[in-house]
Amino acid sequence: MIKHLKCLRLLAVLTFLGSLNPSAWSQTNLYPLWVKGPDSNRVTVVFLAEGYRNTGFTVFRNQAQALVNQILSKPPFSEYQNHFNFYAIAVPSRESGSDLPVTGIFRDTFFNSAYQNYGQSQLLMVPPNEFDTNYARGQGKIDALIQTYVPEADVRVVLVNNDLFGAATVPGGLTVIASTDNAYPLTDTLLHELGHSLGKLGDEYETPFPEFQGAEEPNTTTQTNRNSIKWRAWINPTTPVPTPETAAFNNLLGLFEGAHYFAKGWYRPKLDCRMRTLTNSYCEICTEGMVLAFNRNLNVIEESVPLSKQQIHTNSDAVTYSLKLLQPAGHALSVQWFLNGIPVAGQTGSNFVFSPQNQGNGIYNIRAEVSDKTALVRTDLDRVLLRNASWTAEVKLPVPQEPIRISAEVTATEFSLQIPKINASRYFVDNSTNLLTWQAAFTNLNPNAPFVFTQPLRFLPWPQFFRIRVE
Ligand SMILES: [Zn+2]
Repeated sequence: MIKHLKCLRLLAVLTFLGSLNPSAWSQTNLYPLWVKGPDSNRVTVVFLAEGYRNTGFTVFRNQAQALVNQILSKPPFSEYQNHFNFYAIAVPSRESGSDLPVTGIFRDTFFNSAYQNYGQSQLLMVPPNEFDTNYARGQGKIDALIQTYVPEADVRVVLVNNDLFGAATVPGGLTVIASTDNAYPLTDTLLHELGHSLGKLGDEYETPFPEFQGAEEPNTTTQTNRNSIKWRAWINPTTPVPTPETAAFNNLLGLFEGAHYFAKGWYRPKLDCRMRTLTNSYCEICTEGMVLAFNRNLNVIEESVPLSKQQIHTNSDAVTYSLKLLQPAGHALSVQWFLNGIPVAGQTGSNFVFSPQNQGNGIYNIRAEVSDKTALVRTDLDRVLLRNASWTAEVKLPVPQEPIRISAEVTATEFSLQIPKINASRYFVDNSTNLLTWQAAFTNLNPNAPFVFTQPLRFLPWPQFFRIRVE
């Protein structure tokens, strides 16, 4: 399905951008490529076309769709494909390609992208960059388009229509840029860049890059104390730390020197990884970081019913509490229901049937704990793989009352009334001589024990009637 974007909705954007040609916006197309739920509860990725003339929109759309299919087929994306939404926004450039300013090649493109930034021939960026510092001519247009069409987007991928290898992740990680060249499979390039943008992963290679050094990432460290290494849960006790680059440790996790743009003093978790060599797969630590990132800003409990978290049950009908879950592709989430903090045996499905009749009057906490016990994650410090839904349920059923048998006894001098124990908080006893006017005889605040009311016979006018009111 193609949504043709309306010019009307773009007025605010045009005001903001000022210099943009309105006819260019009227040719903008939004293509939903893979939509599995609301953008607010998915990892939402948007491709944007750079250096495509409007006659190239179909090519762009097909390229983006092929990339989506390939990304979703690679671990750990394949396991979490239901967690993603993908869209493509096509905007027309007047010319194909991208700038090579050092070489003297300039192309009139929508986001004014350029290679050769900061002395790196492959560093492909939109403004602000080394050659054009005007935010409004590059990143500003991306931000405005996203705000208009997919405001909940988590990552934007600018696809640059140029057969020269280039890629970058804009510092901050929201925007990834990659060219459509075939020097490397574009999927591999993108997966590496998505490692930066989504997983906040670092580069594990050693090529010096003085402009960007930054702090430690989930997969890079300067820490050499085994017990303090953040990925220590993955290092066998028999693996030396630091770890030698020998065949024995090729496929093991450890602490390998050389990472984060330094050959010395910085360490990576595995001999090789997609964050070191584009065409490799992610190492276990990077995979763990990606899975945590996929789950960090969404809730796998998509809906919990009843919607109101304060429930009052005034009749004895059983009530079903239920969850709608966002499931991984190849394994099921684990569920446990709790009643007043105690796990309920066997209650591990998406529904929990609560019986007010069986529980009796009182206030209950009903809670479902949903966890993703994937083997891909060993360290989840922020507990992003654990989600809860909970309700307060008050049961207020009418209290059924057994018939109360009151017996009276009269002796020569005394009258006594025998009242059995009663299931109530208190009762009142009234007396009357005519069944028309009643007066309070006594109140019993402790009805859980039998009670005998005794009066000297001479104090009681005759006849004498008693009645009891239970609360
Ligand atoms: Zn890695």
